[in-house]
Amino acid sequence: MASQGAILPPHVLIFPLPVQGHVTSMLKLAELLCLSGLDITFMVSDFSYNRLLKHTTVVSSFKQYPGFHFQSITDGLPDDHPRVGEQVVDTLTSTKNITGPLFKQMMSEKNLFGSGTRRPISCIIADGVLTFAGDFAEEKGIPLIYFRTISSCSFWASFCIPELIEAGEIFVQGTGMDQLVKSIPGMEGFLRFRDLPSFCRVNDLNEPKLHMMKSLTRQTTRAQAAIFNTFEDLEGSIVSHIQKHIPKVFTIGPNHSHLKSRLAEKKVDNSVLSGSFWAEDRSCLDWLNAQPSNSVIYVSFGSITVVTKEQLLEFWHGLVNSGQRFLWVMRPDSIVGEDEKNQTPIELEEGTKARGYMVGWAPQEEVLNHEAVGGFLTHSGWNSTLESIVVGVPMICWPYFADQTINSRFVSEVWKIGLDIKDTCDREIIEKAVRELMEERKDEFLERSENMAKLARKAVSEGGSSYSNLNALIDYIKTMII
Ligand code: UDP
Repeated sequence: MASQGAILPPHVLIFPLPVQGHVTSMLKLAELLCLSGLDITFMVSDFSYNRLLKHTTVVSSFKQYPGFHFQSITDGLPDDHPRVGEQVVDTLTSTKNITGPLFKQMMSEKNLFGSGTRRPISCIIADGVLTFAGDFAEEKGIPLIYFRTISSCSFWASFCIPELIEAGEIFVQGTGMDQLVKSIPGMEGFLRFRDLPSFCRVNDLNEPKLHMMKSLTRQTTRAQAAIFNTFEDLEGSIVSHIQKHIPKVFTIGPNHSHLKSRLAEKKVDNSVLSGSFWAEDRSCLDWLNAQPSNSVIYVSFGSITVVTKEQLLEFWHGLVNSGQRFLWVMRPDSIVGEDEKNQTPIELEEGTKARGYMVGWAPQEEVLNHEAVGGFLTHSGWNSTLESIVVGVPMICWPYFADQTINSRFVSEVWKIGLDIKDTCDREIIEKAVRELMEERKDEFLERSENMAKLARKAVSEGGSSYSNLNALIDYIKTMII
């Protein structure tokens, strides 16, 4: 090992929860670390790996980094498991119960993935929800860093669950929704019970999902450090509360934008780019090319959200009645009760033909960056939120679950770059919100969003907070091999 020390870089094992939003942002992290010369083993589920192989050039593109290796492992679910809606939570249990023990076995069989050309693992950067990775790191004495794919505000709210319970601020389902929450430092005065991460909505205080989230979040403190996909000007005040419990916190985001800026700096123009599990329909870019500037509302609810046929129709009526142009991502697996398919009212078909365009999956970063796009109707997933922030596109937030319910409150009440229509799904409310964002208050929202976009871009440019923090993270990882 002494002779290796002189020549071989640190070897980092990166392990995301195998769902789209987690894999996407941790792939960006992996590429950022590769660009700085670190060796990476990226653990990905067989299911995700096959989707990446089928729909993207990610697997071949990463070959440009000789130090990068994919290692695939089962996620413990059958291939035909839906992995969407509330059922996505099954990935948490199956990775813990099935992937965890296999991972341990794999690591010892392959001697911690060391070889003549690579060190054994110097450090594990695990998704913060993978407790078994923490157990393994502790057992083997390998330094552990947790990466959180959610916003810091959501993490901090979950971290405060014990205080919320103690203060009687977790109400049972259907009550207290508009009560202001007082026991989360930094969020007093604007956060309602309704805005807390959705697993706080319980029928009784013993409900397992509440306690699972509490312990998942609290266990982050066992790691030597934590990484957040956020930036100082966006969530710095919340991060300062987290730092009282986890002293080493690296805010290095927005990861996708940071990666672009580092690639440009190093004059690398063949980035790995998309990590989509679905085939991107690029025809929507041609359609956007034919639309006026800032005239289109982009509609996408991410990779997990499912809607009922009734909800779908409310959105559809609201969009068509708003009279605005819209580009809508309708994932093939996103509609429950699809059998009533052929009953779409004729006025919706006509309204869509006149002003709309639909795809099954879009190249989202490019779409949001297109000058025709002036608004984003989103489910407030953290990647989508950051992707919108970076390019200054105001949002209408219709959060579906988990961290999304608090992200949307921060969008509307703290950063004031959009509207929050959570817990409603009504064509009139949707129509009104679209008109408000795209017409009546358009200039005000665009101005504030552009200001936030500038701060995001500054954070990832040389000398910016995320830029410096990534350098500090890399230096920190390098100390782990001494
Ligand atoms: N996405 C995409 N094309 C689409 C819809 C989504 O590329 O048509 C990407 C989007 O850019 C984001 C990710 O899928 O990076 C969704 O992650 P997010 O955290 O927003 O939501 P989740 O899918 O985890 O609910």
